[in-house]
Amino acid sequence: MTRIGLLGAGGRMGRAIAAALQDAPGAVLAGAVDRAGAPSVGTLLCGVEIGTDVGALAAASDVLVDFTSPAALPDNLAAAEAAGCALVVGTTGLEPADHARIDAAARHVAVLQAANTSLGVNLLAALVEQAAARLGDDWDIEIVEMHHRHKVDAPSGTALLLGQAAARGRGVDLAAVSARGRDGITGARRSGDIGFASLRGGSVAGDHMVVLAADGERIELGHRAEDRSIFARGALKAALWLAGKPAGRYSMGDVLGI
Ligand code: NAD
Repeated sequence: MTRIGLLGAGGRMGRAIAAALQDAPGAVLAGAVDRAGAPSVGTLLCGVEIGTDVGALAAASDVLVDFTSPAALPDNLAAAEAAGCALVVGTTGLEPADHARIDAAARHVAVLQAANTSLGVNLLAALVEQAAARLGDDWDIEIVEMHHRHKVDAPSGTALLLGQAAARGRGVDLAAVSARGRDGITGARRSGDIGFASLRGGSVAGDHMVVLAADGERIELGHRAEDRSIFARGALKAALWLAGKPAGRYSMGDVLGI
């Protein structure tokens, strides 16, 4: 049995992962942690009391699954390193410094970071990379996403993941061509840019559309998440795959063989 430690256990994804664990053969909930002061602390999740001690949870787990906030990442990585346990990072809104911290921890333990853990989105990213590689700069690439009203980061981690796939296909650096948050008199679209637009509202679990637009024609490659269970199942699949792996940084592509 793989012992899974849940970080951010009282959140939307934490609860979805705990629910998915009930139907996951080979996995057991080792424990659950949330931020000190969070309303969920002290309540029961699948019969396990949600606590606050990340270090103790890491010591009791084969793999930690982290769906919290970027602010929690340094402590979560340190706890995984100290306990020698693997870590799946599903949290989004990560900055370059967060990625550098992940790289550093991955020298000592197995870390899998994924802005989106669903099979569909990871396959979509592969298709976007291929399309961007085949089509020239006269095809404009725009990425539109919509999420529920509670989401705190924009563009979504998944939109950025898709933007990175498009940039890879074109052989460019996303940071150099990214066009985010257009407003006012922006001037004409710069050739080669990859644009992002974010919508927020309701309970949408995650919609993404990559539009490749040329003169007179348009390709739209999209994905709609109907509920969080797809991310939860993917995160568990990643955790089961990661437990016991040698130190290193891994991706969903490694898990899904895409
Ligand atoms: P949420 O706000 O419902 O839950 C986050 C939980 O983390 C809360 O219970 C909160 O108390 C806890 N938390 C926040 N800061 C913390 C800290 N510093 N230390 C410890 N715990 C802390 O959010 P959510 O919808 O469950 O999403 C969580 C994260 O996962 C977000 O970054 C979101 O974008 C991301 N996400 C990723 C995927 C994916 O497939 N990788 C899918 C959905 C959401």
